[in-house]
Amino acid sequence: MNVRLTVIGSSPAWPNPGSAQSGYLIETSAEPRRSLLLDCGPGVLAKLREREDWPHVDAIAITHWHLDHWGDLVPWVWGATLGPGEGIDKPELWVPPDGREMLCAIGGRLGQREMFEDAFTLREYVDGVPFTAAGFEVTAHRVLHYQLLAFGFRASANGTIVGYSGDSGPSDGLAEIARSADLFVCEATLLAPNPEGGTRGHLAAEEAIAAFEASGAKRLLLTHRPFERPLEDSLELAHDGLEIEI
Ligand SMILES: [Zn+2]
Ligand SMILES: [Zn+2]
Repeated sequence: MNVRLTVIGSSPAWPNPGSAQSGYLIETSAEPRRSLLLDCGPGVLAKLREREDWPHVDAIAITHWHLDHWGDLVPWVWGATLGPGEGIDKPELWVPPDGREMLCAIGGRLGQREMFEDAFTLREYVDGVPFTAAGFEVTAHRVLHYQLLAFGFRASANGTIVGYSGDSGPSDGLAEIARSADLFVCEATLLAPNPEGGTRGHLAAEEAIAAFEASGAKRLLLTHRPFERPLEDSLELAHDGLEIEI
């Protein structure tokens, strides 16, 4: 085992009953164990606090600015600067291009322009350019998500590769993210391809399977799936608290 993935939150844009929105914790096995949280949607911080008083993650990386993928960074700031996270090392926070300015603007609206800088060590990633976070080599690849700037991540440590789609319609980026990965965590939001018409933003399960098969990845974990849209039992579906050793 080189890497452990723990699903902290698996809900789509509206939460499933009792479930947090997007948050996937990957940890290296080698000591000192390092941890990287992929996305931090509403409910994720409460789930992490069930594991320890305040999360000691080394880094967080955000795929895009839909609230279900980053909303808990706001209460994270309050707990880190005014509560039980005080004195704990700041996690690195990796955000999409121009994300620093975006967070400063939101901080300004909330009355504290530097609030995110106070709680996190902010870094911006660049499409297709590898960066190192929490002992993982990570590359963000652009995916198709309506008109939004959105990315998925390919993260590797000790030769083990995890791909994470973030939110994506059918997209060449998915093949980059998941190529020969040991585990591909892929969204499967839709009941059928493109019921909304227009620019694609999400995948149906059969499209996620097609992207997985094209990538040569070894294992597919579907996620971001509304509770109201059950899947066939033969498919592996994420749920909060699921741990996978890779
Ligand atoms: Zn989403
Ligand atoms: Zn989204």
